[in-house]
Amino acid sequence: MRKNDAFPGAHFIETFTAMDASGDIEEPGTYFIPIMCQHCGNPSCVPACPHSVLRKRSDGLVVMDSTDPCVQCAETPCLDACPYDAIEFDRKTHRAGKCDGCADLVDAGGVPECVPNCFLGAIAFGDMEDEASIVSQVVEQYGPAAFRLKPETGNDPSVRYLLTRRPWKDMEGLYSPAWEGPEGKR
Ligand code: SF4
Ligand code: SF4
Repeated sequence: MRKNDAFPGAHFIETFTAMDASGDIEEPGTYFIPIMCQHCGNPSCVPACPHSVLRKRSDGLVVMDSTDPCVQCAETPCLDACPYDAIEFDRKTHRAGKCDGCADLVDAGGVPECVPNCFLGAIAFGDMEDEASIVSQVVEQYGPAAFRLKPETGNDPSVRYLLTRRPWKDMEGLYSPAWEGPEGKR
């Protein structure tokens, strides 16, 4: 389903492939990493926007208010400010967009659409400050094996990735058929 006014061609959540040649047929090394807005604790996108379109909520979600100012925004600095390439830009309407954690559903007591719609149940959502939540329990259980993307950026990303049997590749060498950059790689 299409949610959050995702415009054609936008990938608010995009699954990348991590190639690992060390695997064999029975234990292939390749794995997949869905990348979306990391809802950073220190979101570099927020101060980058000269029109205050991006905002971090008290619950941690980073959302976009009205994107009307984007139409007059010539430099689109938010795109360069995000180290995760999580912000997409609709060249047709000249507006930015990204995953907002389905803040409207969260406000109504629900979870983001990706959680129930992942048929393998690969995505969990919750309050990391709540010791009883599934995410804090999983992070507690996995410890250092709950990886974060590019922690060196200082953005303090909220998203954790569990990988127990593969070498973690961070974002280096990730491949996405949908990504339109040079050579199709990050
Ligand atoms: S991942 Fe990018 S868009 Fe999302 S909060 Fe962090 S800096 Fe902002
Ligand atoms: S494109 Fe929109 S969100 Fe991005 S910096 Fe410009 S006004 Fe802000």
